[in-house]
Amino acid sequence: MNNTMDPALLLNSTFMPLRVVSWKKAMILMALRKVEVVEVYDREIHTVSLSIRLPSVIRLFKFVRPKGPEIRFTRYNIYLRDRGQCQYCGRESNLRDLTYDHVTPRARGGAASWENIVTCCRPCNLRKGGRTPQEAGMSLIRPPNKPKWLPTLDLAIGTKGAPRSWQSYLFDRRLVPLFSFSDPTRY
Ligand SMILES: [Zn+2]
Repeated sequence: MNNTMDPALLLNSTFMPLRVVSWKKAMILMALRKVEVVEVYDREIHTVSLSIRLPSVIRLFKFVRPKGPEIRFTRYNIYLRDRGQCQYCGRESNLRDLTYDHVTPRARGGAASWENIVTCCRPCNLRKGGRTPQEAGMSLIRPPNKPKWLPTLDLAIGTKGAPRSWQSYLFDRRLVPLFSFSDPTRY
């Protein structure tokens, strides 16, 4: 049995998927009592004294703030930051059906920046027009800023390649399409 077989999905204490770890790493985390086992594979491993079923989903007892590389200012990352929600009415949609809005309009010197661009549905975008939220009588769900991390940045999961037992934890499918299940041992 090699290291790339039967990787485990590591969840944060909040059940947010963090990353994929090798089965060996999963066993170490279990031995250190840092995680609880949430789901197991059918496959068992045997030692001299016991046999246990391999963990397929494990969850950290303590919350960790994921560290990632510098988050690039892209349309997709703005969408991730805003959790696929129009920041005015809260409507959730896929990337294609949403647009983005300059909170302070471009004509008033509003920059294209993390602090001034939000995800927005088309009706809200039309309604707001070239006005500020205040002028349009609209308010933002969350004040936009540069995220320190995005939940899926280092998630090496494509839903096609993911084991069945992971599916219910990859609850927001829209958040994971960019990643492929190529190298689970990277973690
Ligand atoms: Zn809207």
